[in-house]
Amino acid sequence: MGEELACPQCGNPNLDVDEQNSVVYCQKCGFAVKVDPQTGEAVPISQGGAPRGLAEAGQPTQAYNDHTIFGMDPLTFWMGGFAILLLLFFLGVLRDLTILMLLLAVLTAFWWMKK
Ligand SMILES: [Zn+2]
Repeated sequence: MGEELACPQCGNPNLDVDEQNSVVYCQKCGFAVKVDPQTGEAVPISQGGAPRGLAEAGQPTQAYNDHTIFGMDPLTFWMGGFAILLLLFFLGVLRDLTILMLLLAVLTAFWWMKK
């Protein structure tokens, strides 16, 4: 019980902490913020007023963004794949430039669909 946190929505001084999900929430009005344990950054996931705020918190925050490829950010995936293909090409594994271009096109299409 270190910090004194009061709810910015209703002023309730007894905010609850869900340590498993790093979420601080107010039982009175439903206000909730997700706290990043690494950076300490707080992301509001519910402005309060809605009792089921936690469940529908998906859209506005990046944390619940499902536009990922194998759990990676699409751009990271694309750049990683690009680097691997170039490496294979320079190592002589991929000798055919047409195949390299084809794989790059597939990679880009993948990224394009997910971004
Ligand atoms: Zn509140």
